[in-house]
Amino acid sequence: MGISRLLQLSPNKSGWGDTIAFPAPHFSKYIGPLMRAFVYDGHMNKHIDTIVAIATAKAPAGIGIIRLSGPQAHCIAEIIQQKKITARQVSYGRFLDGTDAAIDDGIAIYFAGPHSYTGEDVVELQAHGNPYLLMQLQKRCIALGARQARPGEFTERAFLNEKLDLAQAEAVADLISAGSEAAARAARRSLDGEFSARVHEVEQGLVQLRVYIEAALDFPEEEIDFLATPELQKRLRRVQHDMSTLLQEAERGKRLLDGVHVVIVGAPNVGKSSLLNRLAGEERAIVTEIAGTTRDVLREAITIDGVVITLVDTAGLRETVDIVEQEGIKRAHRELAQADLALAVIDDRNAEVSIVELRQSLTGVPKILWLHNKCDLSARPAMQELQDDGWHLWLSARDGQGFDGLREKLREAAGVNEIDAGSFSARARHVEALVRASASLVLAEQQLVQKQGELAAQELRDSHHALGEITGHMDADALLGRIFSSFCIGK
Ligand code: GDP
Repeated sequence: MGISRLLQLSPNKSGWGDTIAFPAPHFSKYIGPLMRAFVYDGHMNKHIDTIVAIATAKAPAGIGIIRLSGPQAHCIAEIIQQKKITARQVSYGRFLDGTDAAIDDGIAIYFAGPHSYTGEDVVELQAHGNPYLLMQLQKRCIALGARQARPGEFTERAFLNEKLDLAQAEAVADLISAGSEAAARAARRSLDGEFSARVHEVEQGLVQLRVYIEAALDFPEEEIDFLATPELQKRLRRVQHDMSTLLQEAERGKRLLDGVHVVIVGAPNVGKSSLLNRLAGEERAIVTEIAGTTRDVLREAITIDGVVITLVDTAGLRETVDIVEQEGIKRAHRELAQADLALAVIDDRNAEVSIVELRQSLTGVPKILWLHNKCDLSARPAMQELQDDGWHLWLSARDGQGFDGLREKLREAAGVNEIDAGSFSARARHVEALVRASASLVLAEQQLVQKQGELAAQELRDSHHALGEITGHMDADALLGRIFSSFCIGK
């Protein structure tokens, strides 16, 4: 595959450089703004209509906002207010229904496209925040030709009109639903394009590599020499390094958004529920002396320095004939499969046997903390020790000794100490794309070592493609549909 056989996309403002070349068979996979019209043909046609939605929460509030976007937005607002509305000026007046009766009074703000959220003409009608009144106002807009917006349709239009890339569009939803201050700050940064900018940086390095290798393949007689240069190896390593740094940051960003999934496991009666209660600071779990009382999973979210940690208390792991308890144990194993961290609780008076029994259930869990509970009964002081199988902490859920150490370990697991002013939010989808992009780079290096230029070029292409998925510079209508349908209506 050489440059002569590649299709060249013209430079554009999305960051694809003028040297990027796309292989013809894969052409349809790369959107680039140039291609959006093709891939989005169906959606584009719908673009001529005007959409409307209640943009604020559907609950009584001081103010409620109706949002209109599309070519008729301005005209509809002028009919409702029966006055001329000027762009970027507040227009106070009554909102009138079809019989000229007032629905409410309030203000209209007109953002003429392309200087608006969606890039189209947008009008916001601010009325009193009564859900019935807002529904009436929305109905009036629909009667005048607007259509009820689908969830996420405003942001989808912003994406289609190149106001936002895909990662930024997702950050809008993440900002709205952020469960902590740190998560909201990080989502705001992604919305500002900080994550996308980092992706583009890595992409630029990758593009240079691709161009270099494709050029080498274009001159077969010199190909081997070209591919063997130390400079090429150096560049590849640099891109690998940048990509793995970005992956680590994205994983942190995902943790910030999703929180950390911590699963408490252990035999019945070792003190799992007591531990959860103490960490959560309130008596949520049922604590009894009868073994096997926690048959279902119980969740409690706590925040440590702004990061949400979801604690999951599970049924005690043991052999049982009780069908309900068996189901609880099955669920415990399911939770463990998704755990970022397991708190393996053991009764310190019976530690060795318990650890052996538990270890089997914990295969595949990325991180384990061994908690020797009831140290008040075994008369061991609260302490910590790093052993071959990870950290062991001695504590007591009854009197609270050792819990400061446990909280510090949870802070570490949540990555609280690594979160800095530059952290951005990311989603599982982004992390997964970066993992694939990194894996392709590793394969590309192997192929280069074996002087397999064509195969190395293919791996780099795959890596580039995976990276493009993050910001939306490639296809997948279905992917876009999935992302925007998870938004709330009015965004
Ligand atoms: P689970 O079945 O593992 O969830 O255990 P529970 O939290 O229900 O606790 C079982 C029993 O052990 C209860 O009577 C608790 O009060 C008691 N217990 C839990 N932790 C401690 C501890 O650290 N010290 C002492 N002395 N008792 C504890």
